[in-house]
Amino acid sequence: MSRLTAGTIGELRDGLRSGRVRAADLLEAALEGIADSEAEQPALNAFISVAGERLAEQVDAVDRALGAGEELGSLAGIPVAIKDNICTRELPTTCGSRILEGYVSPYEAAVARKLRAAGALILGKTNLDEFSMGSSTENSGFGPTRNPWDRMRVPGGSSGGSAAAVAAGLVPVALGSDTGGSIRQPASFCGVVGLKPTYGRVSRYGLVAFASSLDQIGPLTRTVEDAALMLSVIAGVDRFDSTSADLPVPDFGERLDAGVDGLAVGVPREYFPDDLDDGIASLCRSAVERLAGMGAEVREISLPHTEYAIPAYYLVAMAEASSNLARYDGVRYGLRVPSASSTMAVYREARGAGFGAEVKRRIMLGTYSLSAGYYDEYYGRGQRVRRLIARDFDNVFAQGIDAVFTPTAPTVAFRLGERVDDPVEMYLSDVFTVTANLARLPAISIPIGRIEGLPVGGQLLARHFDETTLLQVASTLERSIAADPLDREP
Ligand code: GLN
Repeated sequence: MSRLTAGTIGELRDGLRSGRVRAADLLEAALEGIADSEAEQPALNAFISVAGERLAEQVDAVDRALGAGEELGSLAGIPVAIKDNICTRELPTTCGSRILEGYVSPYEAAVARKLRAAGALILGKTNLDEFSMGSSTENSGFGPTRNPWDRMRVPGGSSGGSAAAVAAGLVPVALGSDTGGSIRQPASFCGVVGLKPTYGRVSRYGLVAFASSLDQIGPLTRTVEDAALMLSVIAGVDRFDSTSADLPVPDFGERLDAGVDGLAVGVPREYFPDDLDDGIASLCRSAVERLAGMGAEVREISLPHTEYAIPAYYLVAMAEASSNLARYDGVRYGLRVPSASSTMAVYREARGAGFGAEVKRRIMLGTYSLSAGYYDEYYGRGQRVRRLIARDFDNVFAQGIDAVFTPTAPTVAFRLGERVDDPVEMYLSDVFTVTANLARLPAISIPIGRIEGLPVGGQLLARHFDETTLLQVASTLERSIAADPLDREP
């Protein structure tokens, strides 16, 4: 793709600093790219709103500063897209839901403020499953996003708009959020890099809550290097998020070139079941062999509670969601039903008309699992299993494992409509990703090859707050694959 915006941050920055391109050219290319992606049939539908012309002033200021040789922020003039569950002041924040129709946040998320402070152009807000509940972006109130590799397929979800925007070359980087895989699974389906940082690494202030003990913001990018750079911009403690970690923010890219010699990579047998798709299993094997070939010590490991991860995740996530979503009452935000005749009717009608089917399903299941007499049996049990899953990982890291390698998703991108009527089948798309959220660990998906032209991601996990090692291993693998792609026909 020859679009200006289809490069990496480094390439775009070099273009700007050398004077070959202006920030105004980048903005124009991005807007043209979005318009083209909407004009083609069927439309990509990656964006819910676009800032467009409103950025002209900011772009002029960047171009003037560049012309004057001033020192600029690390993202000066770089167009970025933001998932539409992250609050911005200029653009509406819909969460992909009709219940937030017309809502413009009076405040800005910490990550949006940090991106702007680094000089980034916040180009637009990307499509998502309603309130991030889903794995295909088909649960959006604004129509599904399509996969740029095959428009009859889903981009994954819930950060499908962000993944598709990066994969289609409309922006070099985007932000997503990940509660059970919503950055990594769409990254896998769209052939881009998706990083979920350690819980607490990035402030959630201004991220609309889905399941507060699992949610985390992270970047979708074209390269591991760009993921490291984006994380350096958005990470750090924030007094507006009491769960953000008060730890120094290192240069996450400092060991991208350090190789994997002497590191131990664990391959958990529970993530390679006998019925795993052959193509995915074989691409994962090749990736592991590459790591071994470059000096990593590869060990088979066991994470014995993996089989309970999906039920534990859905119990915890739905319970927290039912509580977080109680605030959408038809009074304080968005959609209002003017004809309602009583207070209860205001709530009932706004929630009835404003929420989609999946969100309603989760509110009902979550409320049930929290109710008196059931709390211990459901939510309490989910939390106990969560601790066992976290302990599995603690044990392998205590045995000297530096990174764990798994498939990101059990399949390539599936067809639109294929799973919409089968919520359990949809939930199973997350079997390999929910554990990182339950255990609060950092995890990344990088492209490891293709099956019949469709991208496949491999997932790496590392110790809490050790994104530097995570990115080191990911970058080493990424470069080995770039130098000698795995998806040649045998
Ligand atoms: N697909 C999972 C769910 O539906 C994860 C979503 C997410 O990470 N936001 O809950």
